[in-house]
Amino acid sequence: KEENPVLFVIFGGSGDLAHRKLYPALFQLFQKGQLDQHFAVIGTARRPWTHEYFRETVQSNLHEGTAEQQAAFAAHFYYQSHDVQDAAHYVILKKLIDTLDQKYQLQGNRIFYMAMAPALFGTIAQYLRSEDLLSHDGFSRLIIEKPFGHDYASAKELNDAIVSTFDRDQVFRIDHYLGKEMVQALPYLRFANQMINASWNHEYIDNVQITLAESLGVEERGGYYETAGALRDMVQNHIMQVIAMLTFPEPETLCDQTIEAAREQVFTHLHQLSEDEVKAKFVRGQYGPSADGQQIGYRQEEKINPQSNVETFVAGELELDLPQWQGVPFYVRTGKRLLEKKTRIDIVFKKATSNLFGGESLAAPVLTIEVEPESGFIFSINGKQVGTGTQAVLHSLKYQLTDADQQLVPDAYERLLLEVVRGHQSNFVQWQDMAGAWHFVDKIRQAWEECDCPDFPNYTSGSMGPKAADDLLAKTGRHWIYQG
Ligand code: NAD
Repeated sequence: KEENPVLFVIFGGSGDLAHRKLYPALFQLFQKGQLDQHFAVIGTARRPWTHEYFRETVQSNLHEGTAEQQAAFAAHFYYQSHDVQDAAHYVILKKLIDTLDQKYQLQGNRIFYMAMAPALFGTIAQYLRSEDLLSHDGFSRLIIEKPFGHDYASAKELNDAIVSTFDRDQVFRIDHYLGKEMVQALPYLRFANQMINASWNHEYIDNVQITLAESLGVEERGGYYETAGALRDMVQNHIMQVIAMLTFPEPETLCDQTIEAAREQVFTHLHQLSEDEVKAKFVRGQYGPSADGQQIGYRQEEKINPQSNVETFVAGELELDLPQWQGVPFYVRTGKRLLEKKTRIDIVFKKATSNLFGGESLAAPVLTIEVEPESGFIFSINGKQVGTGTQAVLHSLKYQLTDADQQLVPDAYERLLLEVVRGHQSNFVQWQDMAGAWHFVDKIRQAWEECDCPDFPNYTSGSMGPKAADDLLAKTGRHWIYQG
């Protein structure tokens, strides 16, 4: 339990992300003593709120702790009405920052969180420097949220605007999948077990399957989703980061630079698809109403164009041009309104060639990593059929986090915010990674724009997506291990 003195300035402090995710995550850190006496939070947005009203809104989003703990926490919160495009407002903000720095003895440490539209990130970054809001005696760090651009060109423009003000090691690009317990557990699984590490390659692995299924539809975020779609919203960032955690070469040490360099290897070796490969290897879908008519289709949702061709589902096959992974397909799948919320990874090992056991083809062993809602591993391996038979059958070895373990798991935002406070970069997205992922996704988008869109809607709400996603694997004799 060690306290790190720090001031948070949240741009977009009245917004949904700040209230639903950031303030509860900071409260967790407060309850654990990682934030204690020496911290303060300034929320800024255009509305003319008072500090008191702001504190009430913060408290009303805390669902744990006693009223006293909540009030003690909220007392560290201050509100500053602020238009990010107005230079004069930064002068006022600086005064409040300096006052709070003194009052809470924050040693000049500052974290600026961009919890608002990315179009304003560059403007804010530039004013922070020109109006002298960056620290002279402590650290200044910047946290950025997705969506980081909508293609490579816009992401680069955004990045250029930020890195002209902040150094590389001051910028923390959040991908909350990197803060999930079982995603962080992947390097342990790989590198702390020699037998797994030794078989983690094309000689032993037949294919890898990654499923990020959501049961919810687009909800109230239709306006944003119409400009994004599943490819940009889930594949470019979360799925790519999970692939990187599964495949980066073993680093010599666990320091930020070596892990970043190892992850960069993956992104620079993503096999970039040709137009023909996109047609053969990527499919898209859009949800229609549920079979019982209880749930409406995407085109009937609020703020959605009734003829929209935006995809709410993507499945595809990608490959890495790295010797270790030569020829191993990575099948990925994500979508809204699928059967259930589920994030899991299935590592499908090659079948044994032995015909000792009844002469029948043996099943493929599978190592499943359950990310959420359950968290754990399931290892399905061949063993003896119990009794007098001579067949080999699959047995499951299962490890699941208990309820008591789950209590120890920090929320992804809590974990990542603490890493920013400590200045650890290895679980954040580097620009090179993002650039590689955008190039990959841009190729798919361009190819899709060139060809006719499938007849949407093409999957029923509550199913596991369009049939084309199953066909993708079936044509090589494979199938999705997770069927829902
Ligand atoms: P929101 O619309 O709820 O909040 C936006 C905030 O920005 C508000 O506080 C608003 O007052 C402020 N703002 C807008 N223009 C301003 C200006 N010119 N000057 C000062 N303040 C201004 O949005 P949100 O859902 O909180 O999302 C914020 C960012 O985080 C977006 O880029 C979003 O895509 C991203 N994000 C949100 C979530 C989520 O769960 N909400 C998840 C991931 C990423």
